[in-house]
Amino acid sequence: MKTQSLGYPRIGSQRELKKACEQYWSGKISGEELVQTGMSIRQYNWQLQKDAGIDLIPSNDFSFYDHILDMSLTVGAIPQRYTKIVPNGHGPLLDLYFAMARGYQKNGLDITAMEMTKWFDTNYHYIVPEYTKNQSFNYFSSKIVDEFLEAKNAGINTKPVIIGPVTYLLSGKEKEPGFNRLDLIENLLPVYLRLLKILEEHGAEWVQFDEPFLVLDITKKAKSAFQFVYNEIYKAFPKLKTILTTYFEGLRDNLELAVSLPVTALHIDLVRCPQQLAETLEVLPAGMSLSIGIIDGRNIWKNDFQQSLELINNAVDKIGAERVLIAPSCSLLHSPCDLDFETMLDTEIKQWLAFAKQKINEVVTLKQLASPEGNKAAMERFIANQVAIESRKTSRLINNQGVKQRIGAITETDAKRQSVFSVRKSKQRKALNLPLLPTTTIGSFPQTIDVRSWRTKLKKGEINSEQYDTLLKGEIEKTLRWQEEIGIDVLVHGEFERNDMVEYFGEKLNGFVFTQNGWVQSYGSRCVKPPIIFGDIYRPNPMTVYWTVYAQSLTQKHVKGMLTGPVTILQWSFVRNDQPRSQTCTQIALAIRDEVMDLEKAGIKIIQIDEPAIREGLPLRKADWQEYLHWAVRAFRIAASGVNDETQIHTHMCYAEFNDIIQDIADMDADVITIECSRSQMELLDAFAGFKYPNEIGPGVYDIHSPRIPSVQEMKLLMKKALELIPKENLWINPDCGLKTRGWAETSAALKNMARVALELRKEIA
Ligand code: GLN
Ligand code: ZN
Repeated sequence: MKTQSLGYPRIGSQRELKKACEQYWSGKISGEELVQTGMSIRQYNWQLQKDAGIDLIPSNDFSFYDHILDMSLTVGAIPQRYTKIVPNGHGPLLDLYFAMARGYQKNGLDITAMEMTKWFDTNYHYIVPEYTKNQSFNYFSSKIVDEFLEAKNAGINTKPVIIGPVTYLLSGKEKEPGFNRLDLIENLLPVYLRLLKILEEHGAEWVQFDEPFLVLDITKKAKSAFQFVYNEIYKAFPKLKTILTTYFEGLRDNLELAVSLPVTALHIDLVRCPQQLAETLEVLPAGMSLSIGIIDGRNIWKNDFQQSLELINNAVDKIGAERVLIAPSCSLLHSPCDLDFETMLDTEIKQWLAFAKQKINEVVTLKQLASPEGNKAAMERFIANQVAIESRKTSRLINNQGVKQRIGAITETDAKRQSVFSVRKSKQRKALNLPLLPTTTIGSFPQTIDVRSWRTKLKKGEINSEQYDTLLKGEIEKTLRWQEEIGIDVLVHGEFERNDMVEYFGEKLNGFVFTQNGWVQSYGSRCVKPPIIFGDIYRPNPMTVYWTVYAQSLTQKHVKGMLTGPVTILQWSFVRNDQPRSQTCTQIALAIRDEVMDLEKAGIKIIQIDEPAIREGLPLRKADWQEYLHWAVRAFRIAASGVNDETQIHTHMCYAEFNDIIQDIADMDADVITIECSRSQMELLDAFAGFKYPNEIGPGVYDIHSPRIPSVQEMKLLMKKALELIPKENLWINPDCGLKTRGWAETSAALKNMARVALELRKEIA
């Protein structure tokens, strides 16, 4: 039996990579220094996995920005617009590389970055490869070989991790019409063959091909591409040991295809899909080994050794130990680095957790436990493991009878507004008295250095909560006056008290804990620190009422209450794995509902429940969508439906494609939805118009992700497009998203223009 790791976090346990990259970008350190940081992270990771006793240690899992971008450089898929940038001679061609990732504005050049998108259903974003018709590829960057040799010099014969050719093509985009990116497979394959040849010559024994597209619904064309490339690779390198790696879902109808490919081993994800073990063992050909992904690479919970040993034994009984590999379910890229750095966590909760380093040790311990010789130290770890697992099941920290009863007592009426939208609309019109094309914003206003420093000072005890209160109130008042002055119709308090839209609520709810250092890479140098949902969730006290009511007390205009929705809170946290996600989501929904009711009671007439993450929660397979959408939409409705008809519920979503889920968005039954729209020039609205979306819509007219200030002219043009598609009495005017990351200068100029658009259009329409 062997153990393997599919990839280790690359950011460094103290986010060394983030810091070094940002220093390099701002010119504070040299390329050599950055390269040096990368090297020391790699060495540390390799040594750690070697010392733990992992048999197949990965290389090329490191990346300065993104491993798909690395692959684009490896195969020379460099879009035309970057050819003017002269590589600066560092190993990874840093300037060119970062230009592709982040754009380039230097030396008289102004080149846009490549697009970025989410990697499957993770919160990791990759740089989308760009393809043109008949594109040729060439072996351009030797990163994979260099890192293999670097490890070899350190005495470790690693297993290079390579994005498989089919997944590499499928994860990219055709940049011109008239071809399918899979047509490029024959041009691409020779570069892979060349790379493998060099690796083999240097003594590589194992190679890992990541082909997660095998867990998706794929076309016939993709299936034959898989057959083509893996047969060719086998023909060229019959002795190379290859691992076809799949993760994030079960193989389902692609199982037959996967086991038909001439590879040494197949890796499957048994955390997402434990039932595929039996199916796979049934059809695995005699010559193929099976890597079983039993340690959760996507979550932070300690593995249950008892359960894992059962899976291992099933596999061993059926195919023999020599054909079994034990592994995490996927790359540990998606886990935080090291639990040992968490010194503030409640010790009871801490013993339930495992981060990347601990997961590596779990893999090795499981192998020791499964081997017939037995191992005394491993046996002790087994007992400790089972004690921890048992303590989690029975802990008083986790279980709250009140919450469970409340969940059980939810009725369909709880998930339904009192009246249908048309009735609510006329009541709200009377109650709110808003002009045609009302203007509003999405919630947050610039989080200046000052605002952030107050929060830090409060945490460090440098100011007390009264002082903090006064400072925030000042900022709220300033922001409100300013909105009044420029003529915004529905005001917001600015969300200055919030560090993050999920963390803020998590900190106020029961059932959440926070780490000090549980960072996970989101994209490039950006890392996130998701809260951990460990127990039943409830809201001990109001969370936002204080600030919202204060803001409302300052103005005659309506102040919109701002909440984060249950699906988004769920989606951006590490979620407990001892009950269905739907149930955890419903618990959050009830907590948000309590807050909505308190806001209404306190006189707030408009309440926004943000759900930017609703779409990214969609399962990978279409067959599973309806089940998810059913509980996700229901959770939103439970949160929103306690209020009177007169109270107006808004929701907000960004980065969304709506076409395929428009019915479900309509089912959320928010009175108003604000969406991201300006980048696509209102294209998104087509979905709403075609569907005859019945409720009100605020299509974003101001792209807040850019420092550009949109002119009156261009925003007006966008609104005119919207007016052609949507009845005027259903339209709002607002930015794309919150303004938290913007500065005041551009924000105020842009919003002034936006308010003018409303005035001018109202006149024109009248
Ligand atoms: N209300 C949030 C804000 O304005 C919404 C953020 C989001 O959509 N991601 O910051
Ligand atoms: Zn948004």
